[in-house]
Amino acid sequence: AAEHWQGAARGHANALCMVVSTGVGGGLVLNGRLHPGPTGNAGHIGHISVDLDGDPCPCGARGCVERIASGPNIARRALANGWLPGPDGDVSAAAVAASARAGDPVAVRSFERAAQALAAGIAATATLVEIDIAVIGGGVAGAGEVLFAPLRAALRDYATLSFTAGLTVVPALMGTDAGVVGAAAAAAQQSRLDAFVPTP
Ligand SMILES: [Zn+2]
Repeated sequence: AAEHWQGAARGHANALCMVVSTGVGGGLVLNGRLHPGPTGNAGHIGHISVDLDGDPCPCGARGCVERIASGPNIARRALANGWLPGPDGDVSAAAVAASARAGDPVAVRSFERAAQALAAGIAATATLVEIDIAVIGGGVAGAGEVLFAPLRAALRDYATLSFTAGLTVVPALMGTDAGVVGAAAAAAQQSRLDAFVPTP
């Protein structure tokens, strides 16, 4: 809601806005309005499966976007494939991102795999509801081009239909203000709905 009102999705009537951090979550703006769904969970892209026989996810399914693309999973995969943390022992996704920027191929590949999972989930969303922009915030998005370059490339592999061809993916702009600004945007939308009395 914040990114649509004042941030990177401003002016876009159909958007998926995501957080990629310890977990992966998202929300939808459709036809210029928030689409929370009956329980507020619509757009929960982190638990769409993009790997049918993939690793079990804590949610009970397999191969979820979050199981592949969250910060802890980026770090876990890098470590499993031989990535060595620096002398400070930092095994966070930010440390993997720093190694990737320095050219470490295992770190680069772990971000590429995360980007591939995100791209498949974003492309599925675009195919389902015709979004034209995906906005990504959260700590993992702070990796910058280490994430966004392979993400844009992978999106070309998965968003293949003509009506998804214009789909773009951009970093979030609202930072840690997103929660409070988004709450205000959602409240404003709800009060407009409450005030709306259809004329007979
Ligand atoms: Zn899951």
